[in-house]
Amino acid sequence: METIRLLNFGIEGPADVVTVRQRARQLSAMLGFGQQEQVRIATAVSELARCASRRMYGGRALFSFEQDGRERRLAVTIRDNGGAEKAEVKGGAGHWAGPPELDEPARQLDAALVTARRLMDQCELTRQSDHALTVAMVKRLAPGQVAEPAALATMAAQLAKAPPADSFAEAQQQNHELAAALAELRERQDDLLALTRELEDTNRGVVALYAEIEEKAEKLRRADEMKTRFLSNTSHELRTPLSSIRALSQLLLDRMDGELSVEQERQITFIATAANDLSNLVNDLLDLAKIEAGKVKIDLAPIDVGQLFGALRAMLRPLARHPGVGLVFIDPEPPVRFESDEPKVALILRNFVSNAIKFTERGAVTVQMTPHPDPSMLRFDVIDSGIGIAAADLQLIFEEFSQVEHPLQRGVKGTGLGLPLCRKFASLLGGAVTVDSSPGRGSVFSLILPRHPSQATSAGTAMP
Ligand code: ADP
Repeated sequence: METIRLLNFGIEGPADVVTVRQRARQLSAMLGFGQQEQVRIATAVSELARCASRRMYGGRALFSFEQDGRERRLAVTIRDNGGAEKAEVKGGAGHWAGPPELDEPARQLDAALVTARRLMDQCELTRQSDHALTVAMVKRLAPGQVAEPAALATMAAQLAKAPPADSFAEAQQQNHELAAALAELRERQDDLLALTRELEDTNRGVVALYAEIEEKAEKLRRADEMKTRFLSNTSHELRTPLSSIRALSQLLLDRMDGELSVEQERQITFIATAANDLSNLVNDLLDLAKIEAGKVKIDLAPIDVGQLFGALRAMLRPLARHPGVGLVFIDPEPPVRFESDEPKVALILRNFVSNAIKFTERGAVTVQMTPHPDPSMLRFDVIDSGIGIAAADLQLIFEEFSQVEHPLQRGVKGTGLGLPLCRKFASLLGGAVTVDSSPGRGSVFSLILPRHPSQATSAGTAMP
């Protein structure tokens, strides 16, 4: 650290306090401090110099310029020449513990220290071995402040030789400073007032906006509830007649009511297929409505992945549409068991696989487990080599009734409810659904699930 001593000034009486104040201001002006900073430094220095001058042996003020790496600062040390043994200092601040008639100087020192700490960047009081008090203060220079060390030393030498300050002129100067400070205070008060008014206006606006948003949110909530109730009620109402249509058409197809002509059989098969499709749609809608109403129950039980894959394999093989497309389930080795709601896990994987089969004309559809970075989670991948999905549509396909335009789409059945259902069920199971896809290359739909949801402490996705 480089230190340039600027001024060493004795403080014997009140006249010196005036001069030291003036010198503090002149030195800070030399160092490029602005008007306000000059007043702050001069005030801190003179307050402490006044305390020193009141002591029996007087004191000294030492001004220096310090450069420590990139930090440059004005350091001022005010030393009391002794006699401070009368003062008891505790906890870094001056505290008087002497006889009551000597109370006043200690109190003044306390007050001066409080002021100096406010005005300077640092202010520390120490008690020297000779019982003299030392107050070390620092004011840092801003990066733009110009302070040439060589020029500083010359100017400081001139200041040292300058005649002592004229008390009258200094008092006048202080008056100017006070007037300037008051004017500025006034200005700030006015600014503050204007700002407060502006804030009040904004506040009123925000409150009104909140009320409006709250009202809209309430309307939306009600509309959502009504939609859920409507879906749930109509789905229920539709299910019964649909079951009758399916059962009756099956009876007819089974020739329970006598032989059928070829045309009759063709038409009844149409009825049965249509009733089946409608029944699937109604079931999906009912599931969605139940999830939204928070009425889905999750039954956790141990699941063996090999057995789950076996059941899915048997169930999904008949769905194969294109002869060249293989459906491969890769059983994990060693076997994996985990805890979840099996029918819901099967439903999600079934949806993934039936989509993969629908949208793959060549290659294969593979179902496998892939390690997950978090050992408490499992990941199932359904990989296809089908048409793929453009990045812009990846979010869309999880919205209800959304389907991507493609020639293959026209030939397949679907409602656009499968993936939204998968996502909601996965979240109810404490997991998630992700997709990675590129058009023309194929897609990977993944189901990520916790191994032991019942042990999960902080359920990010609530298990009802
Ligand atoms: P659905 O299959 O009944 O139409 P989904 O919600 O299951 O409804 O899927 C929505 C849409 O996402 C599908 O219609 C299709 O456009 C697209 N999609 C889903 N899976 C795949 C896939 N494996 N490959 C290409 N597109 C897919």
